Amino acid sequence: MRNNKFILILIMSLLGGCSRPADQSANQDSEAVSVDQNILFVDYTEIFLDEFWSYSPDWATYVGYYKFDDKLIVPDAAARAAETDFINRSLSQLEKFDTSALSARNATDYALIKNQLESTLWYMYEFRIHEWDPSNYNVANIFGLIMNTQYKPLDERLLTVTRLLQNVPAYYLAAKQSIDQPTVELTRLAIEQNKGALGVFEKTIQGKIEESTLDAKQREELNNQLTTASSAIRGYITWLEQLEAGFADNPARDFRIGKDLYEKKFGFDIVSDLSAEQLYRKAIAEKDRLHARMFELTEQLWPKYLRDKPILKTPLLAIKQMIDHLSVRHIDREGFVDEIRRQIPIIQKFMDDNKLLDSDPTRPLVVRETPEYQRGFAGASVNAPGPYNATANTYYNVTPLDHYTPEQAESYLREYNHWILQILNIHEAIPGHYTQLMHANKSPSKIKSIFGNGAMIEGWAVYSELMMMEAGYGDHEPELWLMYSKWNLRAVINTIIDYEIQVLGLEREDAVEMLLAEGFQEQTEADEKWRRATLSQVQLTSYFSGYAEILAFREELKVKMGDKFDLRNFHNKFLSYGNAPVPVIRKLMLKELELPI
Ligand code: ZN
Ligand code: ZN
Repeated sequence: MRNNKFILILIMSLLGGCSRPADQSANQDSEAVSVDQNILFVDYTEIFLDEFWSYSPDWATYVGYYKFDDKLIVPDAAARAAETDFINRSLSQLEKFDTSALSARNATDYALIKNQLESTLWYMYEFRIHEWDPSNYNVANIFGLIMNTQYKPLDERLLTVTRLLQNVPAYYLAAKQSIDQPTVELTRLAIEQNKGALGVFEKTIQGKIEESTLDAKQREELNNQLTTASSAIRGYITWLEQLEAGFADNPARDFRIGKDLYEKKFGFDIVSDLSAEQLYRKAIAEKDRLHARMFELTEQLWPKYLRDKPILKTPLLAIKQMIDHLSVRHIDREGFVDEIRRQIPIIQKFMDDNKLLDSDPTRPLVVRETPEYQRGFAGASVNAPGPYNATANTYYNVTPLDHYTPEQAESYLREYNHWILQILNIHEAIPGHYTQLMHANKSPSKIKSIFGNGAMIEGWAVYSELMMMEAGYGDHEPELWLMYSKWNLRAVINTIIDYEIQVLGLEREDAVEMLLAEGFQEQTEADEKWRRATLSQVQLTSYFSGYAEILAFREELKVKMGDKFDLRNFHNKFLSYGNAPVPVIRKLMLKELELPI
């Protein structure tokens, strides 16, 4: 969600020289100054957010802040100008704080706000995503969300929808005026998604009108708006289809963004001490290391499983044969959800017994079948409470495999076999996403929750897998280490192919071949990964980037602290900073521990 909209805010009186009396005694201690700065900063973030949401109303609704739920911003040049003005004012407000006087918690919030604002400007003026990503324009999600979230009675939500619909024609007009030489891939995606969007207007909302007690006049008004909105969306689809047909004469933009934009986007999205190129080189070395380790494990397992056959001389082929052989051990499709439910307490107990980090039994994880409206694809994900309802349950959504053909189910279950399913649960739940977010909620910060760093969040989940393996989860069983390595390799190869595709011009055939031969992936997974790499940039590097930085920081601390290093304390302390970028946490933590940076 990068096309955030902002509003002008006037907070001059709150900040700057006028906030501190000029006649303050000259010998005031530095603590008094820092308290002052912290109070001012916390006040500032509240005002900043309130205004921020009025220009990002759809995002606000998404995080559970419903004040602007009937507001749809028309994404035109005037909106971008207003946003720019707001960002520039906010950045100059931020400059007035003495960051050295801010507490660790506030300093991380400060870094996140600043990065968010600078990043938004960059997206608008250098990356210019509004010009070449037609999938940026799609109103369906916000309407779907309002229909599926019972934050107020249905009738009221339908009246909100009626008001929200008014700007839909102007919205799509602005979209057409903003777009200039899009990519083929994103044009096709936009066509596909906007066709899907019609279902929300022509089915979902219609169905809700039936259930409601709106009177005849209200229904008529809403139906008229729905008809107008649908035809605006159809108009946009037709316009995109014409654009697509014209690509033969007016070449589309290459989906590859190239080295310069890639490095800058990496800087804003990931926030790393490494450059994208350095991370890419690190990933290549890690891939080779993992392959060597996986071959050792394969040799070790060979007599147990495949002793009748000679071991293949080519390591990658031997590893693949062993993985294929082991993958037939999996739960059956009917038992999928129950098996996940069964494993969670076992994994929790292992984490507690091994004192890896603190847990909180008062905030348990609830495993449930994914609600219908959230089921896009099979799989598992953690649904954490948002910043405006932080005490709500955390759900582990697991989608049953009901809608799969037997072949699809078998392929899926081999992928999430006996061993990988445990790694998945560690990643999604304990000590992965659920545990991390539970810790983050202990020092609740709306800023960290809203502008949280994706590389830190994903990196933690990937790191937590290694943490459990190192502690002896699964008794150091070589089968589990082999499968874990395959899973870990996915994060590593994501980084490699994203860089090679976007920066070095890697072609489809070679990318898919790498995923199959060196990543031991299934064909469908490899095809899907190629598609994702043509529609997004940099995001695929977040898993390995965060993981590598957390691990490097842990090793650095072990050296710097010697005997004083304690794994549990390290984990608890690291997570106490919330969803901030790893390099930001590192600096603050070293400062707090009074260690050299
Ligand atoms: Zn099977
Ligand atoms: Zn994850």
